[in-house]
Amino acid sequence: MDGAEVLVVGAGPTGLTLASVLADGGVNVRLIDARPGPVDESRAAIVHVRTLEAWQQLGIADTAIARGIPVREVSVHVAGRPLVRFPLAVPESGRESGAFAHALALPQNETERILAAAFERRDGRIAWRTRLLGLEQHADGVTAVVRDPAGAVREILARYAVGADGSRSLVRRAAGIEAHGGSYAPTAFLADVGLDPPPPAGVVHLNLAKGGFVGILALGPGRFRLFGALSQSYAARFDAVERVDPTTLQRWFDEYFGVSARISGIGWTSTYRIHHRLAERFRADRVFLAGDAAHIHAPAGGQGMNLGIGDAMNLGWKLVATIRGHARPALLDTYEAERRKVAETVLRNADRGFELEASDNRLLELFRRTVAPVVIRALVRLPVAQRMVFRLFAQTWITYRTSALATQHPKCTAGLHAGDRIAPDLLGIDVGVSRHRALLVSGEAVPDALDRLIRRFLPADPVITIDPHSPRGRRLAGEGPDRIILARPDGHAAYVGPPGDLTALGEYLDRWYVPPA
Ligand SMILES: Cc1cc2nc3c(=O)[nH]c(=O)nc-3n(C[C@H](O)[C@H](O)[C@H](O)COP(=O)(O)OP(=O)(O)OC[C@H]3O[C@@H](n4cnc5c(N)ncnc54)[C@H](O)[C@@H]3O)c2cc1C
Repeated sequence: MDGAEVLVVGAGPTGLTLASVLADGGVNVRLIDARPGPVDESRAAIVHVRTLEAWQQLGIADTAIARGIPVREVSVHVAGRPLVRFPLAVPESGRESGAFAHALALPQNETERILAAAFERRDGRIAWRTRLLGLEQHADGVTAVVRDPAGAVREILARYAVGADGSRSLVRRAAGIEAHGGSYAPTAFLADVGLDPPPPAGVVHLNLAKGGFVGILALGPGRFRLFGALSQSYAARFDAVERVDPTTLQRWFDEYFGVSARISGIGWTSTYRIHHRLAERFRADRVFLAGDAAHIHAPAGGQGMNLGIGDAMNLGWKLVATIRGHARPALLDTYEAERRKVAETVLRNADRGFELEASDNRLLELFRRTVAPVVIRALVRLPVAQRMVFRLFAQTWITYRTSALATQHPKCTAGLHAGDRIAPDLLGIDVGVSRHRALLVSGEAVPDALDRLIRRFLPADPVITIDPHSPRGRRLAGEGPDRIILARPDGHAAYVGPPGDLTALGEYLDRWYVPPA
């Protein structure tokens, strides 16, 4: 029988990220996957800004950027005519600006290889060809039954288990967690191809055509992802064959894309039904769900994989703090409270976006061709709308303000709010995903008592002082008074309050963390 502090089932993008965060915090993690290795297909091909920020903390953003293609814009057409362009790059004056100015096109097979290498650099080992067969909980842990690569059935004992095992999650079913949702009528289609002439890189090309939408994304030198909702007749034709033939694919392209180009070198193609589903709970005692195991939704906006990576960043440090004995057990409850709400919002937006793009409802189609172009064109000229669109895609809108873990002192009303994301340039993040940071926005030196108080509860780095009159200080505190900002390891503000009120900070720390005896 094997033992581990945390068993992570599934080495997709979610499980790999989580395993790295746990290993970073010195947790004994066992990562298993039924597959023989990382995926070969390009699948989720857009990495958004919030994910790049997480990867910077994991020390892999530079590698990802070197292997990907910057994506700065979405260009929307209606029946081949340009309608509007909106940014996937940070508007210059954006309050949310940070270290990453744009999204990244990176095939999921590359993403998984980079994430696997990050885990292995932390002495992690992925147990490929190891399938979970069943999972049971008991008072002080879980027992997983797995089949190993040699075909032997073994048990793994762990204090906690995380189901990052995708949309058909066995972990979810074994934990007795229901998931509710449904399926969309249109069939979705993906094809990785060469195009001549090549469309511009760095732009997602969308065309709203009769009966749905289609799009093009550059994946790498000479490689493009074609995606879209299929009409019923094309769905039947594509479904009926093992490999889509070049003539039929070219005909579909000519009919729907509003772009003139020859398709060559057809690589991976996939025809699939789109489902949307949300788990009722993300936790059952010692079992957690993350990524597609907890939520799946329409592909509008390419949010799915990014959402799972965000789950992993949120859950990872909480497990580290609990297992290391720094946190009170209630900290683990905040994972579901924070991330299920985020998933609900992403599902709602993706569903609405997909309905608008792909529904074959006649009224919606009429709206798409007549009213929507006028409204969208007018709106997207406004800088405020551009910022909103950027934030929506980039996932920089995600805040945990309403979480029990976010405490805003009544004396600090201006500037950054507890729960908000702290942009990397404000936080000064380098490598590291399991330590808190404390920022003191003040002209005064760090009081000894403050430093001592924080270190009594947390293995935090020394308090960083920031001049309140500097651009960084003003973005953090506005014109407000001096403040201390305690940043969680996942880059969100946990506590914001005046440095003079150490009682309030002490109460906060005592509510969530355990001082050493
Ligand atoms: C054909 C296709 C196209 C897609 N295209 C896009 C796209 O364009 N944009 C987008 O954002 N998303 C896309 N997605 C979705 C995206 O791939 C997922 O959102 C993302 O992979 C979720 O990551 P995850 O780690 O949560 O789950 P997964 O990547 O599904 O990983 C789950 C892992 O768990 C393992 N596993 C499952 N059961 C067991 C078991 N019993 N024992 C051991 N291991 C197990 C699996 O082998 C798998 O490796 C696509 C998905 C597919 C299938």
